[in-house]
Amino acid sequence: MRKNIVAGNWKMNKNVIEAQQLMFQLLEYKKNNATNCEVWIAPPSLYLLMAKDLYEQDEVGVFAQDLSEHESGAYTGEISADMLESIDATGSIIGHSERRQYHGETDSHCNRKIKLALDKGLTPIYCNGETLDQRKSGQHLEVVKNQTEVALFTLSAEEIKKVVIAYEPVWAIGTGETATPEQAQEIHAHIRNLIAGKYGKEVADEISILYGGSVKPDNAKEIFSQPDIDGGLIGGAALKIDDFSKIIEAFN
Ligand code: PGA
Repeated sequence: MRKNIVAGNWKMNKNVIEAQQLMFQLLEYKKNNATNCEVWIAPPSLYLLMAKDLYEQDEVGVFAQDLSEHESGAYTGEISADMLESIDATGSIIGHSERRQYHGETDSHCNRKIKLALDKGLTPIYCNGETLDQRKSGQHLEVVKNQTEVALFTLSAEEIKKVVIAYEPVWAIGTGETATPEQAQEIHAHIRNLIAGKYGKEVADEISILYGGSVKPDNAKEIFSQPDIDGGLIGGAALKIDDFSKIIEAFN
């Protein structure tokens, strides 16, 4: 049985006091409420150790927002898989569309990063998804196919099972525009079929595929109820405990 997951991507938000407060609110929430999904956060890397200290019993999974494609050395500003392993982080987001857009990241980079993460026992959350132009010109299935193949298909079956995929149509991120549950389901099923074609149905059925792009308390339930959607990668609505907890409760 694959996992249901609600993961919050905090992006470049919150000072240290605000970050600590939200982490603490989430811990209190987890202590007082049974949840039917895994709860993960990806705060700015500056706050990862603080999160690890707070979540002593791994109540909340702690993820970086990115990691380096290099193992170590003269790469100013970067964080390695080894460093994340050394603080016992759960994993890292890889290939978020904002990394692709502003930092020129490609699926070949993602492939290397995913390998490095897996080698250190970290869970990669691999993000893909088409732009508005690609959707309008009917290329979305082909784009996501290429992304998935380049980033993931050099992995072994054992490795790919440990990857979490987040389909995030670029046109729906931070725009208030959400893919309809049917549009998202179509791509999620497409990704799962591609994996089944390469690795077999059993492997494909084990992989959690999250949807990301303007998930909110009022649309989460409908999106998560689709058969191939196993949760969400949440941006804006992960920054307030009230919104984030309601999204978690979409699985109740
Ligand atoms: P959003 O961001 O929920 O603010 O649209 C999602 C994401 O970028 O992961």
